[in-house]
Amino acid sequence: MTYSGDDFYCDMALSGKVKINIVAETEHVLAFHHTKPFWPVHIVVIPKAHVPSFTDLGEHDE
Ligand SMILES: [Zn+2]
Repeated sequence: MTYSGDDFYCDMALSGKVKINIVAETEHVLAFHHTKPFWPVHIVVIPKAHVPSFTDLGEHDE
């Protein structure tokens, strides 16, 4: 399945729609092996809350 949206992490990884190999998980953060790794070891760490952009964090979620 090819994902064509603009928020793979929330829509696919966090939602459980695509199978991910979880490395670590906390209340706020999820770390998993990249589904299409570029590097031999390629782990993605994402916030569980949707963050549009690091340049658009606003006052919350610092
Ligand atoms: Zn998101």
